Amino acid sequence: MAYAITPPAQAALPIAGSEDLFPVRRVYCVGRNYAAHAREMGHDPDREPPFFFMKPADALVTGGADMPYPPATSDLHHEIEMVVALKGGGANIPVEAANDLIWGYAVGLDMTRRDVQGEAKKMGRPWDMGKGFDKSAPIAPIHPITETGLIESADIWLEVNGTKRQTSNLNALIWSIPETISYLSGLVELAPGDLIFTGTPEGVAACVKGDVLHGHVDGLTDLNVKLV
Ligand code: MN
Repeated sequence: MAYAITPPAQAALPIAGSEDLFPVRRVYCVGRNYAAHAREMGHDPDREPPFFFMKPADALVTGGADMPYPPATSDLHHEIEMVVALKGGGANIPVEAANDLIWGYAVGLDMTRRDVQGEAKKMGRPWDMGKGFDKSAPIAPIHPITETGLIESADIWLEVNGTKRQTSNLNALIWSIPETISYLSGLVELAPGDLIFTGTPEGVAACVKGDVLHGHVDGLTDLNVKLV
């Protein structure tokens, strides 16, 4: 038995301070998880249940590679996010057990074709083409939780060409990381290798070709991406 075509490459992320790679299974993203961002997008953040969308695992951009400005948009937005990588999985995980599934953390960008997403919202259509396009998820090396410890309160910010555009703290998440893992595991069975982009704070805006994006979460390796 052989594959009829060459099997696709396994998506994987660099690990900070290691030659090993973290293999990626699925990439989940949380929508509107900071109150001020929910308001800037025209929504009431008063704890409506979390909701999720996905990006393909091969949309990840690693190793400080440039991100090509994508086709079919003239309104590409940056969303800086804390990313959680899972070493364990399961369904219906209690909040109290959710942190035990975490392998590590990374700084990521949920790049968004806002015009495409806006049209999908208006038409009641899926968000996939607004969110899950090629190379839509630049991400920095993962740090194992065995080295960082649990991260619950840390500054998160994004600079574009040296100017602060987004700034907040993880303690402002509407749904905490364990609450998010627990809720998501009631919708799908989670597994080792899954990533969760935990949502972006306020200050999302358009970027253009030539912009340099510099993302940060306290205690993690910064993310540096150039749009080309
Ligand atoms: Mn996002």
